[in-house]
Amino acid sequence: MTDNVKSITIIGGGLVGSLCACFLAKRGYRIKLYESREDLRKAKHQRGRSINLALSHRGRRALRSVGLEDEVLQNAIPMKGRLLHDISGATKSVIYDEHTNQCIYSVSRNLLNGILLTAAEKFPNVEVFFQSKLINISVREGTCIISNMATNETFEVQSDLIIGADGAFSKVRRFLQQIPLFQFSQTYIDHGYLELSIPPCRGYLMTSNHLHIWPRGEFMMIALPNKDDSWTVTLFMSFRRFEELDDKEKMRKFFESTFPDAIELIGEEELEKQFFAAKPSHLVSIKCSPYHFQDRALVIGDAAHAMVPFYGQGMNCGFEDCTLLDELFETHADNFKVILEKFSSLRKDDAHAICDLAMYNFIEMRDLVTKPSFYVRKVLDNILFKMFPSTWIPLYNSVSFSSIRYTVCMNNRKWQNKIIITGLLIFFLVLSILFFLWRKF
Ligand SMILES: Cc1cc2nc3c(=O)[nH]c(=O)nc-3n(C[C@H](O)[C@H](O)[C@H](O)COP(=O)(O)OP(=O)(O)OC[C@H]3O[C@@H](n4cnc5c(N)ncnc54)[C@H](O)[C@@H]3O)c2cc1C
Repeated sequence: MTDNVKSITIIGGGLVGSLCACFLAKRGYRIKLYESREDLRKAKHQRGRSINLALSHRGRRALRSVGLEDEVLQNAIPMKGRLLHDISGATKSVIYDEHTNQCIYSVSRNLLNGILLTAAEKFPNVEVFFQSKLINISVREGTCIISNMATNETFEVQSDLIIGADGAFSKVRRFLQQIPLFQFSQTYIDHGYLELSIPPCRGYLMTSNHLHIWPRGEFMMIALPNKDDSWTVTLFMSFRRFEELDDKEKMRKFFESTFPDAIELIGEEELEKQFFAAKPSHLVSIKCSPYHFQDRALVIGDAAHAMVPFYGQGMNCGFEDCTLLDELFETHADNFKVILEKFSSLRKDDAHAICDLAMYNFIEMRDLVTKPSFYVRKVLDNILFKMFPSTWIPLYNSVSFSSIRYTVCMNNRKWQNKIIITGLLIFFLVLSILFFLWRKF
């Protein structure tokens, strides 16, 4: 490698940072990746956030580009649809894509992150440093001050470009926020989430290859499968309601009246233990723009666009950031200024759209799926998708099973809604006229 090879510092060795390192290492840049936590492949305890995630088309596409899709899918479980549990324990399967049989995949967060870190470390031009936290940054000079958390020493790192993949509470973004005209907004929702678990010994009671949902209007519970036959269950509920369930008796009554079948699946004792073992976590949606500063710094992944998890797109969207960035590097080579400008302008509207769609999907998952109108719409969507596969792509399919820009997915939904409403109005009008004529003659 010659000395004029540009250097890139990546802050954050989570899912997006470690994938980004693979993409840019393939292009020959000198990469230094700093992750504040210890190496999760060696850590004794699992880290806090969701244990498994739904991987879909956009994420798979990015993994394919760095040659990791097959390895990840071998360790993932396909989910072909939602399995809805009603209050009596009866279930109903709603397939995601009856037309082309595509599915999403449940994958362990730690396993996926481990695969990505291992792949990044295999490049001779990548150095990964754990327990190394960004504590200060001078974006204009391209300088990061890093603290080694094991030794408490701090040191300075100079590079041509700094990429912040340091999550929703990004330090890199915090520095961008000080720059005039930087736009930023965050929205916490009233609901928090708590993770529970169905052990492998009872996992077989769950219908496989589905994402299970217990929709209950104001709140809901979901479960994703793990490779060891266990299921990770996530309860999404308002903090107020969580606070009300402050003793075992109240909690047990609540489960008996709302999720009776889940008690048997999780196990009564386990449920008590797990429910009170941790506090519910917050969910935040973050929008900002631009994502860059000159040719010096860029934020990607949750650092740029954290979203509520109800579309299963946070990671997929972050992985798509890496695909877009790679395409821009392909076209504009070392011209960081143009690459970063184009990234911000191409990505902003799409990222904002998926943040909004993720909010919408919470209502669909916890409430709309129980309404007859949801099924009427699903049937109509399926018929029209089959008749016009390249024109009428239902919203869920376009978001999860295509690379269609999120803004286009959203706009498609708007004109599809108009056509369906107009079609139904015409249908009922014709029906009424026929009925009227029949009564008259
Ligand atoms: C309950 C839940 C369920 C979810 N389910 C899905 C799903 O099914 N599908 C999906 O696509 N997405 C899902 N998501 C979203 C997904 O988890 C995120 O979008 C994804 O983790 C973002 O990855 P990231 O690398 O950008 O950020 P993170 O995963 O937050 O990683 C950031 C990394 O940066 C490190 N870091 C932070 N600050 C510093 C610093 N100062 N110095 C050095 N390192 C630092 C952190 O330790 C961390 O490792 C879910 C999220 C939640 C909360």
